[in-house]
Amino acid sequence: MQQKSIMKIPGLKEVNVTKIEEREDMVAIHVEVPRKPHECPACQTMTTRVHDYRIQKIQHLKWFERKVALFYRKRRYACPCGKKFAETVSFVKKYQRQTIEWNQALGMRVIEGKNFTDTAKQFHTSPTTVMRRFDHLSASLVKEVDQLPPVIAIDEYKADT
Ligand SMILES: [Zn+2]
Repeated sequence: MQQKSIMKIPGLKEVNVTKIEEREDMVAIHVEVPRKPHECPACQTMTTRVHDYRIQKIQHLKWFERKVALFYRKRRYACPCGKKFAETVSFVKKYQRQTIEWNQALGMRVIEGKNFTDTAKQFHTSPTTVMRRFDHLSASLVKEVDQLPPVIAIDEYKADT
C-alpha cells in the first residue's frame, strides 16, 4: 500500500499504477483500484470482504506507437450471504477486453479511417472488432439523427473492405 505510484493516466482516473514494464514491443501497466465498500448484487448488503484477485489483461491506447496492455488486478468481494462478485470500475466494462478509452478512440478513428483493415492495424485489433464498433456507432447515429448520411458512410465502408 505504501509504495504505490500516484501517477494518473488519462482514461484511468481511479487506478493505482503498481508497476510499468517496457517489453520488447509493448508497455505493460500493472494497475489496481482501492478497496472500497461494494453492494452485494444478491442481497444488497455492503461488504469490503475480499474473496480473491485475478489478473485481467486489457488492451489500452498506444503510447508513442507502442502497444499498451493493462494488467488489472481485479478484486472479487465475498458477501456474508455467500455471493461472490467482482468490483466495479469505470475504465472497462464487463466482459470487455479493451478499455472504455480505447473504444472511444477507436470509435472516433473508425469514422475517419480509410477502411476497417487500416483502422484495425492502427489499433492492433481485428477488422471484425472495428466493424462491430462501427456498426454499433452507426446504429446509434441512425437512431439519433434519423437521416441519410450515416447510411451512405456504411456503403462506402462496405465498398472498401
Ligand atoms: Zn449478499
